[in-house]
Amino acid sequence: MKTAHRKQRLTLLVLRDAQHSVRQIQLSRPLMIAVPAAAILSIAGLIVSLQIQSAQTIMGLEKQLTLKSLEAIKMEVTVTDKDEAIERLNKAIIQLSDEAEQTKVQMERVQQLEQELQQFIQKHGSLSGQTSSILDDNDQHVGGEFIAVHENEMLSLAQETQDDFVEIQQLIASMERHIPRTLDQAQETQEKREGTPSLWPTTSKRLTSNFGYRSDPFTGRSAYHAGIDIAGKIGDPVYAAGAGEVTAAERSGARGLYIIVKHPNGLETWYMHLDSLDVSVGDHVNQGETIGKLGSSGRSTGPHLHFQVVKNNQTVDPIPYLQ
Ligand SMILES: [Zn+2]
Repeated sequence: MKTAHRKQRLTLLVLRDAQHSVRQIQLSRPLMIAVPAAAILSIAGLIVSLQIQSAQTIMGLEKQLTLKSLEAIKMEVTVTDKDEAIERLNKAIIQLSDEAEQTKVQMERVQQLEQELQQFIQKHGSLSGQTSSILDDNDQHVGGEFIAVHENEMLSLAQETQDDFVEIQQLIASMERHIPRTLDQAQETQEKREGTPSLWPTTSKRLTSNFGYRSDPFTGRSAYHAGIDIAGKIGDPVYAAGAGEVTAAERSGARGLYIIVKHPNGLETWYMHLDSLDVSVGDHVNQGETIGKLGSSGRSTGPHLHFQVVKNNQTVDPIPYLQ
């Protein structure tokens, strides 16, 4: 029993260096199997757990990688989208800038026209000198062609375009203020110009009697002459000195055949001693239109046109009206 028991034991000798004694370890047989088995098992377990852990780590990493690449793809897509959006915006800015430029040019042309109108009014209108001041067109930059487009350039182009629009708005505001007044003035000037009896009323320029006091050609006594006498040939055309309406076209003793034209602003022109009449009462005549023929009818010593201007029912000197 003791022997059998002994036989089931295993002695392990632990040999170290020469200074140390040899150690003896006695192990029972079950322990002899159990210890390496446990060691193997624990190592195996460790390996398995390491494998599981590493697999999990790898899976995690793979998952992260997948996510990252997805994000990268998404980023790429977003960046492409952004690039496209920026490109579109850039194009829009360039187009806007072109339009702003064109509009500005057009506005400047309109402004130029208004200035010409103003010059017309100043030249021909004896108005109260209320000429509107034109907004000064300061020397603004002009956006040219853009070949390379960089962010800064786009930003400055956008800024320029904005400036252009501000300027255009100012131009429009200025025109809205000036143009109606200018047009009114121009219309008034035109009406006055056409209506004012300013045209010499016949072909001959030979003035034989002035307006005012003179000695009467028939009596030799001093008398008031209400107009001017222009000598001419019978049949010479007599022109309307200004546009207006015929209010008289008839024969009367001293005046002979005569015409009265009524103009705007309370003015009338009278044409006397005519040979024949080309118009009737109620006719509208334009400046320069032939209204009759020069003659010597009525109280006349020879072929001439008696021309007089009546302003608010009073005769005035016609000469200052005639150009
Ligand atoms: Zn006369």
